[in-house]
Amino acid sequence: MTTPSPQKQGLLRVLDATRYLPQFKKGLLAHLANPRRAITVCFPVEMDDGSVRSFFGYRVLHNNVLGPGKGGLRFHPDLSLEEVSSLAALMTWKCALIEVPFGGAKGGVVCDTKQLSAGELRRITRRFISELGDNIGPHTDIPAPDMYTNAQTMALVYDTYDTMHPGRNNRPVVTGKPIDQGGSLGRRDATGNGVAFATERFVRLQGLNGHKHLGGLRVVIQGFGNVGYAAAHAFQRLGARITALSDSRGGIHCEEGIDLQAALAHKRENGHLSGLPGTTNLSNEDLLALECDILVPAASASQVHAENAPRVQARLVVEAANDPLTPQADLLLQERGIPVLPDILANAGGVCVSYFEWVQNIQNQSWSEQEVEQKLRHRMHHTVEAVLRRHQQLVKAHPDDPHAALLRTAALALAIERVTCATLERGIWP
Ligand code: GLU
Repeated sequence: MTTPSPQKQGLLRVLDATRYLPQFKKGLLAHLANPRRAITVCFPVEMDDGSVRSFFGYRVLHNNVLGPGKGGLRFHPDLSLEEVSSLAALMTWKCALIEVPFGGAKGGVVCDTKQLSAGELRRITRRFISELGDNIGPHTDIPAPDMYTNAQTMALVYDTYDTMHPGRNNRPVVTGKPIDQGGSLGRRDATGNGVAFATERFVRLQGLNGHKHLGGLRVVIQGFGNVGYAAAHAFQRLGARITALSDSRGGIHCEEGIDLQAALAHKRENGHLSGLPGTTNLSNEDLLALECDILVPAASASQVHAENAPRVQARLVVEAANDPLTPQADLLLQERGIPVLPDILANAGGVCVSYFEWVQNIQNQSWSEQEVEQKLRHRMHHTVEAVLRRHQQLVKAHPDDPHAALLRTAALALAIERVTCATLERGIWP
């Protein structure tokens, strides 16, 4: 049997979760399976060498029943409309689960940021945002950073939109901005911090290998981008030991714990983590199979699949990336008693603090980093508790059903229930 694409997998997971919602109106599935709106643009950009190149860009609004669309912009050479649509749906569930008043959206441009100058990236970003026109807005659809975009990209998004709409407060049109452009303290590290807070609560309530706290637990992180790096710091602050890290070129391992400052300095100097003194090099595949307490895939989609899931030796897997596990991997880990904290729960800290930024922008206020972090921690803990409660109910009602035993099913069921309940309360138009 061929493995379905990550997009089909997302849909199958939603279909699975709706089986545990007795009130679910079947006809809504076709509605939720498709985006409400999908925009493709193609625009020319003048390159540094004087040539002209065309770029494709997408923005998909999956659902806006709970509020304006919300979701990142990613710049990636392999981006497709299908992938953006599937990630937009994931944002719908993530926002509903973490209880921020947003719907789901996603977007991006097909480009390789590693091959582009700062000037070319600036022209691509500005032209893309101007092409989207009023399809984004502070109360319609609000972008944020994602893979290969950052606060600087968001400053350009804001500036472009602001130029097109002079004379009003446009700051809430985009989140993840630089602090002096209305960005929120704590937003940059929010996804990584949220990953650690969710894990902290899960371990406190469920226990892990006899532990009730993260203190002394060994954590392996795949990916050393913004999320992986911030998660590593947060786990370390909460007492855990980072025993392995990786980037796209390969990983490093040290049972005594990796010095994160040294790893960052080494990466900046050499462009990769491998070769950090005091650590052993290993491949990304071997890193996923390391003996550890917590494995955190924080890189890209479908990293843990049917072939390598049997090699995973962690006691808990926490999805910091979007879609890092295939559905087959979910079930294989489940069979072996390894729980998975799913992406829509574990990495929801980013959009949670994006919501805090949006609120601050609307009110023209700025909260302290401590306040943001406290609010984030509280929300992550609260959401883990809600998912565990639903999980217990599902396991009790369906004792021999492996799908009902997945934490992902519980999280998705809660999120889908909230979206469908709001859809029916608002009434199907007309
Ligand atoms: N790109 C992030 C995500 O996938 C954050 C989205 C946002 O803050 O709107 O969750």
